[in-house]
Amino acid sequence: MKKLALHWKILLGMILGLLFGLVMKNLEQKGIVIDWIKPFGTIFINLLKMIAVPLIVVSLIVGLADLKDISKLSKLGGRTVFFYLCSTVIAVIIGLLLANLIKPGTYINEESRISLLENFSVDASQKIELAVKAKNSGPLQPLIDIVPDNFFKALSDNGSMLQVIFFVILIGIGLILIEEKKSKPVVDFFKGLNDVILKIIDIIMLFSPVGVFALMAALMVEIPDFSTLGALGIYGLTVLLGLFLMMFVFYPSLLMIFAKVNPIQFFNAIAPAQLLAFSTSSSAAALPVTMECVTERLGVDEEVSSFVLPLGATVNMDGTSLYQAVAAIFIAQAMLPEALDLNTQLMIVVTATLASIGSAAVPSAGMVMLVIVLGQAGIPEAGLALIFAIDRPLDMCRTVVNVTSDATIATIVAKSVGKLNKPKEINF
Ligand code: ASP
Repeated sequence: MKKLALHWKILLGMILGLLFGLVMKNLEQKGIVIDWIKPFGTIFINLLKMIAVPLIVVSLIVGLADLKDISKLSKLGGRTVFFYLCSTVIAVIIGLLLANLIKPGTYINEESRISLLENFSVDASQKIELAVKAKNSGPLQPLIDIVPDNFFKALSDNGSMLQVIFFVILIGIGLILIEEKKSKPVVDFFKGLNDVILKIIDIIMLFSPVGVFALMAALMVEIPDFSTLGALGIYGLTVLLGLFLMMFVFYPSLLMIFAKVNPIQFFNAIAPAQLLAFSTSSSAAALPVTMECVTERLGVDEEVSSFVLPLGATVNMDGTSLYQAVAAIFIAQAMLPEALDLNTQLMIVVTATLASIGSAAVPSAGMVMLVIVLGQAGIPEAGLALIFAIDRPLDMCRTVVNVTSDATIATIVAKSVGKLNKPKEINF
């Protein structure tokens, strides 16, 4: 009964938060929301992020150790990476096709272009400077970045999840390779710890309706006025259309073809994770709930979900890559249409795939990494200023797609290795 109500509680929190924010904005009481309501949203996100790193570490170790043999690991790993890559490339291609068909950049007139560029905030340009710095390193830098020189530093740094995963996979392999007599106490310890972490997540989730309420109310008062953003409407709609196609056409088809799973049942099962992804704009923050939904409600064996999902939250971002493709084309169309030849578009396929893998699972990461896509494709980076104003709502939506993609691929991989159990009946 308690689980059942979670969707609704979160949804109610979201709607009430939006309404409350709207009313406060109209009453010009923005300060009250920022000072007294927003902190509860921040606390909620902090709680989720706090538990996400231990969850990734412990569940990956348990998941890998349970595989008990290296050939099983390489089979699971190979399939997971294959599906993650394919879905990301397809997302970029869908983004490119839509942006070329709809041509959102041609709807931006000179006047709105200038005003958007002028309204670009200092905060945003700072973020982008950071990304430009990151870009100015050698071609193999992303590879170097995967290998940590200090595991504990990687653990404490939000952007280093790939490094954490790299080390944890080595621990898992080590555990598989040593004698069972020695590995058993270690694995048992992590299994116990895993249960403790899952309990903590249950406790955190009791707070979720309040957290989501606060996040939505703060969003509502902070978002710029929609009337000034009219010029970006077609661009926003192009991104949303792409995300919609991924969500309601691409993933359901994959699920039906490769996993024989009914999409309606799938969406029912993962709705809490999607709602949380939407309200927090962070796949990492949603991960604890994604794991719970996929394992307990969809029937994906823990052996698979504990490996596929933490990895997916970090590297598999279809929504982000699709958005980056549309945004890159949009900026080029608005600022430098002659840059848009076939070579550039192919370049976008490659760089948007890599940039989405490299994006941290936190709010706005996709937009910051877009700098790399633009730089490689020879599109003016200053164009980021054009899309900045409506990034947050698009971020919320692309994060939902990111999480849905992880859940879809976890289901398919589980089916392919015979680890998809009967899903739980969910009554609304
Ligand atoms: N917010 C997204 C996520 O956590 C990343 C992005 O900015 O696209 O999945």
